Amino acid sequence: MPDPYALDALVGGILEGSRPHIARAITLVESKLPAHRDRSRELLRELATHTGTDTVRVGISGVPGAGKSTFIDALGTRLVDAGHKVGVLAVDPSSSRTGGSILGDRTRMGELASRENAYIRPSPSGNHLGGVARATRESMLILEGAGFDVIIVETVGVGQSEVAVSGMVDTFLMLALARSGDQLQGIKRGILEMVDVIGVNKADGDREGDARVAAREMRIAMKLISSAEEHRIPQVLPCSAYTGMGLDELWKAVLDHRADLEASGGLATRRAQQQVDWLWAMAEEEVRSSLHRSESVQAVRAGLEQQIASGQLSALEGVQELLSRWRQDVINSGAELFRL
Ligand code: GDP
Repeated sequence: MPDPYALDALVGGILEGSRPHIARAITLVESKLPAHRDRSRELLRELATHTGTDTVRVGISGVPGAGKSTFIDALGTRLVDAGHKVGVLAVDPSSSRTGGSILGDRTRMGELASRENAYIRPSPSGNHLGGVARATRESMLILEGAGFDVIIVETVGVGQSEVAVSGMVDTFLMLALARSGDQLQGIKRGILEMVDVIGVNKADGDREGDARVAAREMRIAMKLISSAEEHRIPQVLPCSAYTGMGLDELWKAVLDHRADLEASGGLATRRAQQQVDWLWAMAEEEVRSSLHRSESVQAVRAGLEQQIASGQLSALEGVQELLSRWRQDVINSGAELFRL
């Protein structure tokens, strides 16, 4: 049987924008098999000169129900109709628990999914954010290699995955909803600090007035919490994924943010810092997973946990035991323990 991941064929197919090749390459980078990791690395090296600089990389977050998929469907369709090639990826580390990811689901983005120049891929499954984020990031590079010039990375508004996504995009857009009382309630401070643009969604019908008021209040609040020396204050705009109101303005805000970054040299700095952060994220993820993969660690794990739970052993003693076993395994079989 021919090798489905033959490098030359994959690279050639991706550069021509062939969907089957893109799909196969994304399956490859999502794989955790050591041979596949090796091949992924070669593939990304080949694609390196074809990725990056001209792409607009946008992260979109918001609590479930904020309207992310409806919004991406509407915005993405507009962008495709304006001549862009739009890729939609997702980071949802919980997707393996629910047996499939809702984020980035093609059925939720029916209009966009029907477009030739759109590519939608749900979140890779995996328990660990590190692995899921890695696969998403590598998928982004494949899509860029295939000529996609807008990459949207969707995530849920719960915290850690936002950090991972902000580490791979240029601009972070958050979808919020109008609520009574404190408009920023429910939005974690840490997330607000990452946000570059805010859309107050569902500004239609009866809710339009509330959304406009909420946007105004949020704008004031964002001014108050952004310190003067910090980067620019996020733009806050009402929008409706249903009617399309505000979508063009939000996209313009995304492009303005990116243009500002570019003009100040911040885009190159941001991407360079992302690479450095990525180095450490991958190294830490590898160390963590090798610890769990280590057979010597696995052999004592249940016993140690039990001893610690019953108070026979302190956690401090336990960790020494664990680490000395892991260290031995690393010395004996390092290459197999580390899979990157
Ligand atoms: P997600 O969980 O953030 O992806 O949210 P969905 O896109 O699935 O939307 C959640 C619900 O809000 C669905 O019932 C949508 O039809 C609805 N919705 C999404 N966007 C809008 C909008 O702009 N206006 C109104 N009125 N409802 C919307």
